Amino acid sequence: MEKIKKSLPLQIFIALGLGIVVGLIMLAAGEGAVNFANEYIKPFGTIFLNLLKFIVVPIVITSIIQGVVSLSDIKKVGTIGLRTILYYFCTTAFAIIIGLIFANLFKGAYAVLETSGLEYEAAEPTKFMDTLVNIFPSNLFQPMVDATMLQVIVIALFVGFGIIIAGEKGLPFKTWIDSAYEVFMVIMSGIIKITPIAVFCMMVPVVASNGPQILGSLAMVLLTAYIAYIVHVMFTYSIAVKTLGHMSPIAFLKGALPAFLFAFSSTSSIGTLPVTMECAENLGARKDVASFTLPLGATINMDGTAIYQGVAAIFIATCFGINLTLGQMVTIILTATLASIGTAGTPGAGMIMLAMVLQSVGLPVEGIALIMGVDKIFDMGRTGVNVVGDLSAAVIISDYETRREAKEAAK
Ligand code: ASP
Repeated sequence: MEKIKKSLPLQIFIALGLGIVVGLIMLAAGEGAVNFANEYIKPFGTIFLNLLKFIVVPIVITSIIQGVVSLSDIKKVGTIGLRTILYYFCTTAFAIIIGLIFANLFKGAYAVLETSGLEYEAAEPTKFMDTLVNIFPSNLFQPMVDATMLQVIVIALFVGFGIIIAGEKGLPFKTWIDSAYEVFMVIMSGIIKITPIAVFCMMVPVVASNGPQILGSLAMVLLTAYIAYIVHVMFTYSIAVKTLGHMSPIAFLKGALPAFLFAFSSTSSIGTLPVTMECAENLGARKDVASFTLPLGATINMDGTAIYQGVAAIFIATCFGINLTLGQMVTIILTATLASIGTAGTPGAGMIMLAMVLQSVGLPVEGIALIMGVDKIFDMGRTGVNVVGDLSAAVIISDYETRREAKEAAK
């Protein structure tokens, strides 16, 4: 009992298990109970998610500014940024390759679903140049109000650079930011303490509403995605963390568990960000590095989403009786990497971006309707993978920086 009281991951784990059990009971109890779960249990999960969303922008802004200022060198920030982005690109490409391998291995076992009469309206694709332009804010406050994370990151970087360049005159502003950061962190720790209750309240309605579909004709494709998710976490991240970050994979996975479980039940990388930051600190990642790599990762690094997009593309092709060529698979690797970068860290965003992947190889977009009903279940796993990927970067880049500094000091 004492152990449970002390350990947040254990509490979250128990809450998750309880949520599944209660969800299944409600599912068996019939429609009335399922409606009860959706109307009266789910809102408590939503309250918690709202609280996290409210705290995430101030935490991201203040922690990035602190991180940049403590690096005290604009060039250094640039190098860390480039390394992080390169790592994110590589792991995402790896993720999608793993997804495609398993999807091709298992596609013979997929139930071929009826494709006539399907409807799905794809969102208008954003042009690359527009995406580029949209990274830069035209207003100081709007991005914070809308929680447009890339713009928030850019604002924080500029303010951080401003403080460094302003020197002595910028110090009072930095002190104010330091103090604001401490205050927001205290609030965040308070919110995080109630995570287990939130996880329970989010799991019950998901299980109660989605139960039958898991057992239905989509079981095989869901299983494929989950096998690929697990392989990516167990192999790609473990090897990366061990070889590049000099950390034991077991210690890493254990430390990342609370963030994984929370992402799994909330299906929002951005909402999970405060929990991810806490995990990074517990894993010994440097604050100046984690404060930058994690918000960036929650916005652009979506390995789980890339896996899902690859698996879903192959499944949809199979249902339409289309055999994809090797060239088309390579196109999927490229577009799914880009599509996952463009995916917002919010529930269900990966499915919207799937349209782009399908279009790139001429697959019918209305195929998305085949898997739309179980997107929540895909989303739970892919969001979990997404945040573990972000954490692996925080650990690896931290280790790299520490070693580099030690080497420089020894010169
Ligand atoms: N829900 C995912 C996330 O927040 C994005 C997605 O839908 O793939 O990371």
